[in-house]
Amino acid sequence: MIKKLLRALLILILLLIPFKVIASQDIYSNCEYEIIDDVRYIKLSSVAIVHKLTLQWSDSDKSVRTTYNDKNLIFSTNNDIVYINDDMYYFGEIKLIKGYTYVPQNATVIFNEGYTAYLLDEPVEYKYINGIVTKIDVEKNNITTSVIKKYLINQIEYFCIDELAQFFNIEPVKAQNSDYIMLMNNEHEVYFYVQSDNINLNGTNITTDNIIYMDNRYYAPNNLLDFLIETFVTDYNNNTDNPTTSSEDESLYTTYIFDDPSVKYVSMKQVSDIAGYNYQWYYMNRYAVIERDNDKFFILVPSSIIMKDDLLYKGYSIKEDNDIVYIEYRALEVFGLIHKDDIEDPSNEVLPDEDDQNPSESDLGTKLPSGYIPIRQFAEYINGTVMWDSENFSAILTHKDTEYTFDTRNFKIYVNEIEVHGYDFKFEDGITHVNTSLEELISSTNILYKEYEEYDLIYIKSPTATLKTHYPLSDPNRIVLDIGDCDSVNNSESVKGQFFNSIRVLNEPDNLKRIVFDLISKNNYEISKTKGVLEVKVFKTGTNNTQPSSSEQSGIVPGSTINDENENTKPNNKADIKVETDKIIVNTLDYENYEIKRISDPNRIVLFIPNSFSDIKEFPIKENSRYIKKVTSYYSDEGLYIEVELSNQCRYEIIEISETKLVMDIYSQKIINMSYYNYSDRKYINITGLSLADQYGVVNSNVKVAKNEMITTIEFIDSNYRLTAGVLYVNDDFIEKIQVKRINEKVIMTIFAKQKIDLYFNSARTSYTNINFIPENMTYSGSVVIDAGHGGYDPGAVASSVYESNINLKIALKVQAILENNNINVFMMRKTDEYVGLYERAHVANLIEASLFVSIHSNAFSNSAYKGIMTLVYPSSVQSNKLSGKQFGTVLQKNLIKATSAIDRGVIDRPNLIVLNSTKMPASLVECGFMTNAEELAALQSEEYQNILAQGIAAGIIEALRLK
Ligand SMILES: [Zn+2]
Repeated sequence: MIKKLLRALLILILLLIPFKVIASQDIYSNCEYEIIDDVRYIKLSSVAIVHKLTLQWSDSDKSVRTTYNDKNLIFSTNNDIVYINDDMYYFGEIKLIKGYTYVPQNATVIFNEGYTAYLLDEPVEYKYINGIVTKIDVEKNNITTSVIKKYLINQIEYFCIDELAQFFNIEPVKAQNSDYIMLMNNEHEVYFYVQSDNINLNGTNITTDNIIYMDNRYYAPNNLLDFLIETFVTDYNNNTDNPTTSSEDESLYTTYIFDDPSVKYVSMKQVSDIAGYNYQWYYMNRYAVIERDNDKFFILVPSSIIMKDDLLYKGYSIKEDNDIVYIEYRALEVFGLIHKDDIEDPSNEVLPDEDDQNPSESDLGTKLPSGYIPIRQFAEYINGTVMWDSENFSAILTHKDTEYTFDTRNFKIYVNEIEVHGYDFKFEDGITHVNTSLEELISSTNILYKEYEEYDLIYIKSPTATLKTHYPLSDPNRIVLDIGDCDSVNNSESVKGQFFNSIRVLNEPDNLKRIVFDLISKNNYEISKTKGVLEVKVFKTGTNNTQPSSSEQSGIVPGSTINDENENTKPNNKADIKVETDKIIVNTLDYENYEIKRISDPNRIVLFIPNSFSDIKEFPIKENSRYIKKVTSYYSDEGLYIEVELSNQCRYEIIEISETKLVMDIYSQKIINMSYYNYSDRKYINITGLSLADQYGVVNSNVKVAKNEMITTIEFIDSNYRLTAGVLYVNDDFIEKIQVKRINEKVIMTIFAKQKIDLYFNSARTSYTNINFIPENMTYSGSVVIDAGHGGYDPGAVASSVYESNINLKIALKVQAILENNNINVFMMRKTDEYVGLYERAHVANLIEASLFVSIHSNAFSNSAYKGIMTLVYPSSVQSNKLSGKQFGTVLQKNLIKATSAIDRGVIDRPNLIVLNSTKMPASLVECGFMTNAEELAALQSEEYQNILAQGIAAGIIEALRLK
């Protein structure tokens, strides 16, 4: 804690330094100086006059020595280090100009009283030196500095992302297809996408700018550099978002900027110092108390509320960083330190008029600009997706299952495998730019054609059309296809094939189109729906020479190949098909040249084995089969078709066991970024990279939740494609499965529960969401919630490398065991080292209608002499319960003191603790001892004392339950 504070102070001072320099600039105004590369270097002998120093030049190590305030100072021109006694400081180059030593102006801060910053205490540090972030590698006395280089590409300054990664000692992750590079540290991940030019920070697209991939390296425009450095530099110094000082404020107080540059904050610590308030931060409750005379203000960080007496002031933004509370500048009016008139409303100042908004943003999805635009942008307009195929140097745009391939080597466009003409595109700086006229091809129904030796391939490419029926007619020989949901069909080039003379499109009523192929002779044909297009193959006469059947219909229609077994000769090999759990085993003499095809709606996999047959048409499914819904077979004289209907788009694998044995293994898809947790009593889905609610549990407006008995559907937009489609088979006593379906950016998550459930969403941190499951049947109703404080990335207090979160959990698990031995129903908020949001703890307890809530913590204080146990309660629990929170706390405290004989620090009102003020049942937070006291820390770590504590807590709970 103290180290953290010192560090915070150091960083704070570091941030303040440039302003102090400016403020004290005038004392050096008569000094001789040189400006080199915008940096002001002051002649050291001039500085010596200001501070009355005696300088001594040492030729052996090319340095200047002096003493100041009893400190030995050495300015080394060899390694640019300023030594103050044995400490090393770095301010930039120390120059020798015409035989005189010059130091950067910012080095004069060392003559300021109480100077502590710029001390190099880490092997690698990043400092703003003369406005440029500089990496300083300290290895013994050998200091090297580096800055990030600029590259001029097409007259624009770029930096190399690979070099940025190296600068921060980050190993970048690069896409195999060269579409992105990703830099990641403990806190952040930043993706740079080449094709889409998107820059994505922690799952959110923050901006679009030209990202270039060249000679195996990635480049981004230089104007992004500051932002990225901020992202990574602050992380190296500190794990939370440091404020940056805002330079243009002329007020009494230093102002700071957090995430939004238009909102200025002041440090309440500094304000208190200046305004004569006493500032006290309560780190555990996350509030600060500002006190002067009879005025007492509470600043509650989690709820962004300032409280004075009974008055609540809301609507101000409040931040906390390293135990310092920052409030929005305008909130100073609450303290009477500024007046309303002093405040310019930043919202008036900064927000652009709606008319001024970037048209490409506001018009997204509604109107296409004309001309060439990056393919990613185009894809967004049409709701498609883009992939870069690095092997073939092609961009692949997928829209409604149809693939549009842009071959950047040959500048050809293909729809699936058929080339289309009349559209073009550009390839510039590694980015495919398509002409927006392409939209016409994508949104309309077109007939496309390609010749093969054995057959003519015709696509009926349509975003909407469905095949209603098809049949052959003779005399003259024709194929007739009826297509529904189709406004018009583009058939401008009158297509003539090798095996057909023409294709005619006839308009029928009800949006029906009849497409007639006039055949050369009695050609066989095959119709299937693959990759979003209706594929018609018209075969050369004499090939595929079975009669086309007039059988229906949607999906794949193996027109010419399906046969009624009565009319056909059986192939030679009898196949033995066995259906196991999610596995199909086929034994047949000859499975050479088998083919496999995936069909959707319903999801099926069709396995074709030539020269084989089976007399069994449908196979029984194993009861515990998770993915296989139905297995059927049929055969023609060519071979056997095994059609496996699946519960979703499962993955499959064909394993050739032996020359006669083939196994098709079917398994689920893993859902990326989504996991289900059920090892504590709290059951929840964790989604990383997506925030669907806020820390208070308020679900975002674009998240739709619908419940129908035991099926819950959650719909939301995931434009960053964090989640993959798939099914998570849970099969615990709570959830059967969780299915994620995607339709472009829309995600439909369906939860199939085994009992009726309520959901509670929470995103206590940005970029993740927990969806808690609460049973409606009140399995946990009336149970006692045992809440082990902190956990996961929040260790709570840390003393001598001991984490509070771990001690709390150990005691909590012991309390659970004792209570359960006494037949008391217990709900454990956590049973492992995991993070649970504070509101999440409170709301989950409310939703399960718990009878009591006990949060278990251990204390810390700056004075290591402090010992003892205290219980924190919500002061005025005027709940309908017979037992108030205060009474409950009193019972707990009494039992704890009785069990432990520890110092009794009493029952203390804590109105602002979330777990106490947001819970509806009697709730208390026990502080089991002071980790900052050596004796109690040793006790808290011992199993023996943990048992005693647990017995005290359990005894208190048992007594309270009797009183209730
Ligand atoms: Zn704690």
